[in-house]
Amino acid sequence: RLILGIDTSCDDTGVGIVELKPGGGVQVRANRVWSQTVHAQYGGVMPELASREHVERIDGILGEALGEAGVTLRDLDAVAATSGPGLVGALLVGLMYGKGLAQALDVPFFASHHLEGHIYAAASEAELSAPYLALVVSGGHTHLFDVPQAGHYVLMGATRDDAAGEAFDKVARLAGLGYPGGPAISEAATRGDPGAVPFKEPLKGQTGFDFSFSGLKTAALLAHRAGAAPDDLAASFQRAAVQTLVKTTVRAAQAAGRQTVVVSGGVAANRALREAFGATSLRVVFPGQGLNTDNGAMIALAAAAAIEAGRAPSPLGEGAVAYAPLAHGQWPAASPK
Ligand code: ATP
Ligand code: FE
Repeated sequence: RLILGIDTSCDDTGVGIVELKPGGGVQVRANRVWSQTVHAQYGGVMPELASREHVERIDGILGEALGEAGVTLRDLDAVAATSGPGLVGALLVGLMYGKGLAQALDVPFFASHHLEGHIYAAASEAELSAPYLALVVSGGHTHLFDVPQAGHYVLMGATRDDAAGEAFDKVARLAGLGYPGGPAISEAATRGDPGAVPFKEPLKGQTGFDFSFSGLKTAALLAHRAGAAPDDLAASFQRAAVQTLVKTTVRAAQAAGRQTVVVSGGVAANRALREAFGATSLRVVFPGQGLNTDNGAMIALAAAAAIEAGRAPSPLGEGAVAYAPLAHGQWPAASPK
């Protein structure tokens, strides 16, 4: 069975195709993303422009995805699209497109949660069987969930201020390393000394599992003003950010009694983060290449899991939502088999 996934939650137009095998295994057959460039001149995403770009690009990206998978629209068995959270105008483009496509093809439609998509991006690498812990580290989220069973999410901790990716972007900007900041910091860090700039551990001594990056950001700004070399700043900031993410996650895994951790979202592409998690005693699963940042394949992967679990298709009346916490009991309605 072939599932099409669409994500237009922010400034990437993503369309992916996933094959759900008879035994339940999944394979990513196509993953095409158009990353909008119009926003660079404004230094941030302009919502109205993002919507327009999605409208202009989505047909072309769908065509590319079908070509990559070597299939036609008629071969699709289900369509999934992100309904939230994200920019409402941007979300609406992919959501309405997906609903229209599903109706025209007479196949079921599944509205997916963007963060659930990020988590299921890791299903490209290993079977995700609950229970496990999920750390989503992206441009807008730093959220740690316990997943006691498929489709159930219990928030254990989250950032109190900036998201991890946002902090990478801001530190890169102040150090003059360019945009997007994550890859820029990661690259500069290979040339810098991680011990050059001292950073204090955020929320040191907390008994909970929250994160905070604003202190690291301020310390980076002060170090920059004091003349720290950009490469050293990048290496030192990266080490501090990675340490707080790994340390808190390991504590949470112990508290929840979980051995497996899924680490996903754009920051999960970070090599230092992957190495640090690899050095723990946890079984850590990351998304495959091209599946860390926003894409459509992860939305199809989340839908594939929901279909496998017998979740009912979404009503076509379901709208786009800007704010939508990933909740306990995300898949409430199981369809009668
Ligand atoms: P959200 O999913 O929370 O709405 P988003 O979709 O914008 O946010 P993603 O596309 O998942 O976020 O990730 C983008 C973020 O990932 C950016 O902040 C970027 O700097 C960061 N990022 C990408 N690659 C790396 C890397 N190698 N190291 C660190 N950060 C990275
Ligand atoms: Fe995202």
